[in-house]
Amino acid sequence: MPRVASVHFLCTTCEKRVAREAGEHARPCEHCGAPSPVTAPREIAIIDRCAACGHDQLYFQKDFNRTTGITLVVAGAIFVPWTWGLSLLGVTILDYIVWRIVKDVIVCYQCQAVHRGYQANPALKPFDLATHDRHVYGAAPPGAEEK
Ligand SMILES: [Zn+2]
Ligand SMILES: [Zn+2]
Repeated sequence: MPRVASVHFLCTTCEKRVAREAGEHARPCEHCGAPSPVTAPREIAIIDRCAACGHDQLYFQKDFNRTTGITLVVAGAIFVPWTWGLSLLGVTILDYIVWRIVKDVIVCYQCQAVHRGYQANPALKPFDLATHDRHVYGAAPPGAEEK
């Protein structure tokens, strides 16, 4: 199954979600028409800076749709009375399988742009709350970075 690499980001003008696939040319926001210079890098690119804002602090996380996960748990819980709890076990196994299948996406700390379908950049680290707080609040809370 070929995966087209893509970048998903929020329009800086209308803050709606916009997606660009690798190979597409830059074009204005399809929601508000604001010009956007953002293009998705080629699939073979190593993502070391954000394609949307150029920021160089990125993290990776599982491309796991939380809604899907919650739906699975709810579905499992609904069927509990008929399966004597076995469905919850099924959901746990399913959850594990989904977790193994899903690939990592690369996310920008600054603008939350999601880079999907690119190879892992070994220089990137998983989400770090202290780094995140530094971007959101301007400084890490006291003690957050002490090891
Ligand atoms: Zn827009
Ligand atoms: Zn960014």
